[in-house]
Amino acid sequence: MTPDAQSARRRGDLAERLIPKAADLACIVHGDGDVKAVERFLAALFPWERDGLLVILAGLMPVDVSEAGLLAWVTWDEMGRPLEPHLAPCGTYAAFRRHKQRGELVDDDCKASARVYWQERNVMRAEAAREGQSRAA
Ligand SMILES: [Zn+2]
Repeated sequence: MTPDAQSARRRGDLAERLIPKAADLACIVHGDGDVKAVERFLAALFPWERDGLLVILAGLMPVDVSEAGLLAWVTWDEMGRPLEPHLAPCGTYAAFRRHKQRGELVDDDCKASARVYWQERNVMRAEAAREGQSRAA
């Protein structure tokens, strides 16, 4: 096995181990956002897990979504008061999905963000398939 393949395999193993932890953390954050629960969760991780989790979570972030779009899940203001439900702005994949679900015309910005989203998803799927094939070989 080449050093590149070993490195890719190691990254794949790390991702497989950390994805469930990333999902657990996401549940805490998206649940009630209990700060103490987040602190307990992070304190229970090994330093290498915390470092790896940062990279995994960055990898899970859509890169074609604006900062406002990334924060669309936040339902409170800086004082902890509930916000009016707001919608992802045009030019995001979430807005594209909303237009489709409502049967609305889709504007060019939303179409473009959907194309970027699908292209990147296809690239990630192809990379995952290649890694799966190289593991099986
Ligand atoms: Zn739109």
